[in-house]
Amino acid sequence: YKAKVSGTGYHVYDDVDHDDGAARLRTMDELQSAIAEGQFVLHYQPKVDLDTGAVHSVEALTRWEHPTRGLLHPGDFIDLVEDAGLMRAMTRVVLAIALDQAARWRADGHPVSIAVNLSASSLVDEGLPDEVFTMLSVRGVPATDLQLEITEDFLMADRDRARKILSRLRTGGIRISIDDYGTGYSSLSYLRDLPVDELKLDRSFVQTMTDDDHAAALVASTISLAHSLGLRMVAEGVETLGAYTELTRLGCDEAQGYFISKPLPAARFESWLRRQPVLEQPVQSTGYRRF
Ligand code: C2E
Ligand code: MG
Ligand code: MG
Ligand code: MG
Repeated sequence: YKAKVSGTGYHVYDDVDHDDGAARLRTMDELQSAIAEGQFVLHYQPKVDLDTGAVHSVEALTRWEHPTRGLLHPGDFIDLVEDAGLMRAMTRVVLAIALDQAARWRADGHPVSIAVNLSASSLVDEGLPDEVFTMLSVRGVPATDLQLEITEDFLMADRDRARKILSRLRTGGIRISIDDYGTGYSSLSYLRDLPVDELKLDRSFVQTMTDDDHAAALVASTISLAHSLGLRMVAEGVETLGAYTELTRLGCDEAQGYFISKPLPAARFESWLRRQPVLEQPVQSTGYRRF
């Protein structure tokens, strides 16, 4: 679970690579040019509406096309981005790529809403909401095409400030998700207080729910909790037909995971989408066609 832990930005020196101070410094240096030269790309992973089988949204996951090391995943670099003080810059780059893509999909006649991951440090960045709204309006993209995913560790940051920033984003029509729900400081009080729309149940629960009664009970009760608070429930890390079927039976709203599709570059996602059976029909037990 290295990727998730290192994604918090509070966690340093856990990666073998990064124990080498010189390598760390070199990578931080390379990150500067990665931002300047556009080496970050987004892969898109569909989220399926379990009521209809339709795909209306995707999660954008950042990849670094490193000039010599190949395609790197966030677990390889995200903590260094934070340590190098480059998260603010990277977040802007990622949002720009995602919103350009949203504008293209909208222009092509098949709008898809895109979820972008925010680090906890972005929730102390009071300039973010205005910048995001400007980025949307210059592209003519409605706020409903953007979702933002935050993990519970934003509670470690300045909670009042985080609440203020989230409220401004959400009042403007951007939907907010709590990512990796259930692994962090899950607290009933923040669910009551915070402006959020959706919980994304962490994949550790989803992956064990078909074999472990306790995990299954936690999944079922989390879905009920979400619904009684008026929140949508999304399951991540859905890898099997068993989990997909069980989540549907339990009334989970959306599912995301390798059973449906892995994250794909935009063009491959588009062909994946075209290959799907009738999207507005419920998914049959054959599941999704694999890529
Ligand atoms: P996340 O937001 O929880 O994203 C889900 C991660 O699970 C992704 O890993 C995805 O590729 C992976 N995944 C999807 N389906 C499955 C499945 O069925 N099974 C398993 N085992 N894994 C699955 P990825 O792309 O390596 O990203 C890791 C984390 O890095 C993300 O976790 C997110 O917290 C962070 N991240 C990604 N992009 C960004 C970004 O642009 N900004 C920030 N701040 N964080 C990012
Ligand atoms: Mg996420
Ligand atoms: Mg997650
Ligand atoms: Mg439902």
